[in-house]
Amino acid sequence: MPSTTSKISEIIDKYSQFSFKETDIFSWQPSDNTICYNPKDSNVLILLLHEISHAILGHKQYSSDIGLLKLEQETWGRTIELANSLDITVNADDIQANLDTYRDWMHERSKCPACKATGLQIKLNIYECPVCSHRWKVNQAKDCRLKRQNIKNAQ
Ligand SMILES: [Zn+2]
Ligand SMILES: [Zn+2]
Repeated sequence: MPSTTSKISEIIDKYSQFSFKETDIFSWQPSDNTICYNPKDSNVLILLLHEISHAILGHKQYSSDIGLLKLEQETWGRTIELANSLDITVNADDIQANLDTYRDWMHERSKCPACKATGLQIKLNIYECPVCSHRWKVNQAKDCRLKRQNIKNAQ
């Protein structure tokens, strides 16, 4: 059995068109063609392949929360293909759990802070309530702690 470290090197060699950087978090930075990964994470191989999949698919920006969820689903599909080609086992439950965190995240931020109805996303970081017309702002990064703030002068 090859060690995780040697498997990481194999992956990095195989996708040498991208730059790789060790950090605490996993991310794909299209602006400098760099994949950040955490070599100490117990799921490092799969999460690394996940970021490589974003890179291969040329993902840059998403236009809505649902758009982000679609990108994530597409990325996981490609991740499974890459993992199979490298003889790396993927646990379907892990993928489902990961996608669920996006669904929970979306559900949470789309809830109207005034009346709890489900809002409509009218801009990348703005939701509007169809029931009480309240508008609220959400931050973009999924990994950041969610902060909802009311927009002053919102109609
Ligand atoms: Zn992703
Ligand atoms: Zn409302």
